[in-house]
Amino acid sequence: MENRFEKQQNFYPIGIEGQRKLANSTAAIIGCGALGSAAADTLARAGIGKLLLVDRDYVELSNLHRQPLYTEEDAREMVPKVEAAKKRLKSVNSRLEIETWMDHADAALIEQLAQKSDLLLDGTDNFETRLVINDASMKHQTPWIYGACVGSTSMVMPFLPEEGPCFRCLLPVIPSSAETCDTAGVIAPAVHLTAAFQCAEAMKWLTGNEKAVRTEMLRVDSWTNEQHSFGIRKMKRPDCPACGAKRTYPALNQSEETKAALLCGRDTIQLTPGSGRKLTLDDGEKIARKLELPQKRTPYFLQILTEESRIVLFKNGRLFFHGLQDVKQAMKLYNQLFG
Ligand SMILES: [Zn+2]
Repeated sequence: MENRFEKQQNFYPIGIEGQRKLANSTAAIIGCGALGSAAADTLARAGIGKLLLVDRDYVELSNLHRQPLYTEEDAREMVPKVEAAKKRLKSVNSRLEIETWMDHADAALIEQLAQKSDLLLDGTDNFETRLVINDASMKHQTPWIYGACVGSTSMVMPFLPEEGPCFRCLLPVIPSSAETCDTAGVIAPAVHLTAAFQCAEAMKWLTGNEKAVRTEMLRVDSWTNEQHSFGIRKMKRPDCPACGAKRTYPALNQSEETKAALLCGRDTIQLTPGSGRKLTLDDGEKIARKLELPQKRTPYFLQILTEESRIVLFKNGRLFFHGLQDVKQAMKLYNQLFG
């Protein structure tokens, strides 16, 4: 029988045994935008057993230059990224098992993923979620691989529980998020390079090559060709609340209040109502009809047009306010319409 992984197995650190381990592994990919979709494609082709995919967004035309799983048709039909990704990945590797969450990756969900997987892969674009991933990783002893990409720059670092410092220990030295893909843009080669380095670390870990896992933080600029590795071993903080002697995992203790956040590079506010205030699509439809606002419903969400904003209400009650950049303005509009 033809062996689709022959070339990969011939690479001696992997071999037949490593390939078998990979086939029995589960990785959670948190965020299926640029980094997440590139990484999912690589791991699916490499023969990982199961992928857990989380993303809160749908496909848009402006994603296609760097997000390799998606098509113009997905953008036209505003297909949720996890659904489009699942369809594409299944066509690449039909034996791959996939579980999806079209949702904001909050602490409860990320803890669940950390318990169900052998590895967490960072496909996010914000510090808050990375802190949650870090704390869940340390608490549940599931490694995670940090990846960040802005402009032409890539940064990658694996964080293994009980080894070296964690992401939280490094916070004082990690460059702040002053530059985002919003202000600096981003090019596809930088995305693919970041995801490729993340996947190399993932494959080392999942095939039983722990000793080969990178111990320094990598920063590469694919435009200026600068490349640096930073030793971080000595930065472990004994008082770190995620990996130190006394652990409280601060990012996992979030309240049940309604939360609002400006999405990176999207001119969009996301609002996640607290558990007692969740709207259904039927509720939203009724309200829009009463206010005579134009609306459109798909299997995944309801879109409502107001003068100020294009609002998208998802099945789980989460909302996007497109065209807004001010959290207060979005909260006000939310309360006016659905309060
Ligand atoms: Zn730490």
